[in-house]
Amino acid sequence: MSLTIENLQASVDGTPILKGLNLEIPAGEVHAIMGPNGSGKSTLSKVIAGHDDYDVTGGKVLLDGVDIAELEVDERSRAGIFLAFQYPAEVPGVSNANFLRAALQARMPDGEELDAVEFYQSMYAKMDELEMDRKFTKRAVNEGFSGGEKKRNEILQMMMLDPRYALLDETDSGLDIDALKVVAKGVNSMRSPQRGFLVITHYQRLLDYIKPDVVHVMSDGQIVKSGGAELALELEKNGYDFLKQTA
Ligand code: ADP
Ligand code: MG
Repeated sequence: MSLTIENLQASVDGTPILKGLNLEIPAGEVHAIMGPNGSGKSTLSKVIAGHDDYDVTGGKVLLDGVDIAELEVDERSRAGIFLAFQYPAEVPGVSNANFLRAALQARMPDGEELDAVEFYQSMYAKMDELEMDRKFTKRAVNEGFSGGEKKRNEILQMMMLDPRYALLDETDSGLDIDALKVVAKGVNSMRSPQRGFLVITHYQRLLDYIKPDVVHVMSDGQIVKSGGAELALELEKNGYDFLKQTA
């Protein structure tokens, strides 16, 4: 079981961004991606999730061996891919609770109704874990939320949707240290042999709390280096200068 990216190539408006990227995340593992701004990290996460701004011009995205490249965003979501966005979208007019309920209902077999009592119990338990005030259930999704509140809300969505593979794009940015710990606790509570994580981050700090199995460095649309958790510490100390030397 794995999320496997093979020789992935993707463009925006004819400009290549991903240039033959290879990555395998076995279920049960947490992989981190670091790399300079503009190297294509967010593009990678959005292409895996099926965002339609990007043209996939080559390669494969395999979910447990099945190519999902032709699936729409919602189909990928139901297949078990979850993306927490770097810049989460606001959904005016739709309450957080109704949004989550609709997303979960869409995953039920035809004719089956989500149990409202169980839904609220589960949502409140997860909000408690994330130290989120109950008032956030009634507010429109992300509307007027602070940066940190949006990131927590993304993790709430992840915990409710129970994905097979979760992609977290700079979920740590905009979080103070206490919020970071809470978010990391939420992620760690979801770690399981059945689930894989791809954690995109600029800072080693997050990886103090979410221990990665593998750290990758992305540059110019490719994975150029992979290593253990110690690689993140090395990058924090020495930066990305080594990329220029090898270029
Ligand atoms: P990172 O997340 O590593 O900082 P991105 O994936 O956001 O990098 O961006 C990689 C490159 O692709 C950048 O040069 C960026 O301007 C470009 N890019 C990404 N998305 C779009 C888009 N929707 N339209 C135009 N250019 C884009
Ligand atoms: Mg980014």
